[in-house]
Amino acid sequence: MIIGVLAVQGAFAEHEKILSSLGIPFGELRQRSDLDTIYDGFILPGGESTVQRKLLNDLDMATPLKAQMEAGAAVLATCAGLILLAENIEGEGEGCLARIPMTVRRNAYGRQLGSFYTEDEVKGVGRVPMTFIRAPYVTSVSPDVDILAKVSDNIVGVQYENKIALSFHPELDSDLRIHKYFLDLAGGR
Ligand code: GLN
Repeated sequence: MIIGVLAVQGAFAEHEKILSSLGIPFGELRQRSDLDTIYDGFILPGGESTVQRKLLNDLDMATPLKAQMEAGAAVLATCAGLILLAENIEGEGEGCLARIPMTVRRNAYGRQLGSFYTEDEVKGVGRVPMTFIRAPYVTSVSPDVDILAKVSDNIVGVQYENKIALSFHPELDSDLRIHKYFLDLAGGR
């Protein structure tokens, strides 16, 4: 198995540390040729989705990345990554990779006081730590999208086929169960 970690911007190093600690091979995606390799799964880290979108388009990486996702690669997307995967972003239109039929609201908790920590259930995983940083949440999903987690009635985790998208940052806490859940999906291709 090999995982591709989007490494153009944002909190990718923390995801890589977790993959290393689990002994999982990965490659960094920094330029188009990094997508010549076929990956079993991708990690889309948190960061700034507008910057990530611009870089993915400027570096000509969006199309080949989307193609591998369409061909069946698993995905773990966190925060800005969730925004890239959304078919619709409130007030902005289609997300850059648009692989999950859902609508998301960016900076949904406000721009200044938008960071907080809580613990809650993720379906199929259990109760996990959840660190939110200027996070989006999901405002609607199509019926075939599975809701994995809600905090205060807002959707903060979804799964569609073998793609998981989360508003929070599992890579910033020491609990590895979400990464293991994703790796099971990537291994089961
Ligand atoms: N606010 C960021 C955005 O809209 C996401 C924040 C994050 O990834 N922690 O892109």
